[in-house]
Amino acid sequence: MKYIGAHVSASGGVENAPVNAAAIGAKAFALFTKNQRQWVSSPLSEESITKFKSNCALHGYEPWQILPHDSYLINLGHPGKEELAKSRAAFLDELQRCEQLGLTRLNFHPGSHLKLVTPEESLKIIAESINITLSKTKGVTAVIENTAGQGSNLGHTFEQIRFIIDLVEDKSRVGVCIDTCHTFTSGYDLITPEGYEETFRQFNDIIGFNYLRGIHLNDSMKPLGSHVDRHDSIGKGFLGADVFKRLMNDARFDNMPIILETPNEEIWQQEIEMLYKMIE
Ligand SMILES: [Zn+2]
Ligand SMILES: [Zn+2]
Repeated sequence: MKYIGAHVSASGGVENAPVNAAAIGAKAFALFTKNQRQWVSSPLSEESITKFKSNCALHGYEPWQILPHDSYLINLGHPGKEELAKSRAAFLDELQRCEQLGLTRLNFHPGSHLKLVTPEESLKIIAESINITLSKTKGVTAVIENTAGQGSNLGHTFEQIRFIIDLVEDKSRVGVCIDTCHTFTSGYDLITPEGYEETFRQFNDIIGFNYLRGIHLNDSMKPLGSHVDRHDSIGKGFLGADVFKRLMNDARFDNMPIILETPNEEIWQQEIEMLYKMIE
């Protein structure tokens, strides 16, 4: 069974996210549990936490159907000591917010080497960041999102993600989220049926579907291998509708949150309906 939704607004409080998700017919959703462009946000209030949980129950969302995304400011692979400490503290806060909300997965971008150290050194810093943070929390899985590889962003090859996972001590609390736009612009051809099969064969061989905890479903405004992260609405970009039809009929993506991060939120409901209709 497919659980399709979108990254909905939590404006006015996290408790509004499940309501916004239900309003567009979503069976899964993503949210930011704090302002994603600020380092510090006020703690979640007891009222907000209680309402979030009751709204999720009311609309039938269980924790595994929810994939919160961390702040864009965090760089867990930062080579600078002070900046790294700041990122690790912010990441811990993100995980603790998930714990408070009863959520079990936190989706994040691995980090950037900023051309100050080698990719490998930065990947080791990322793994250490994950280990430190997981040891201070319980019950939340760190879900690494693959990236487009823009600038010095890491996590744009399956090998880099595997490298991080290999260094994570508690393998039961690390997972992966595949973003279709990022996968494509980082250089994996998803357009042809052969390219699609080959990409996910590599994903399975190098990382393993047992680590997959969610999907970001986005078309791409930029071509294969461009390393640019610009999402497009489903069927409107370089990927095209066929790729998504293939994915909708691929049982390897059953029973996990499938999240739209497409640019036009006015059509999310239509996109969700269209995706469900693709299932044969
Ligand atoms: Zn992301
Ligand atoms: Zn994404």
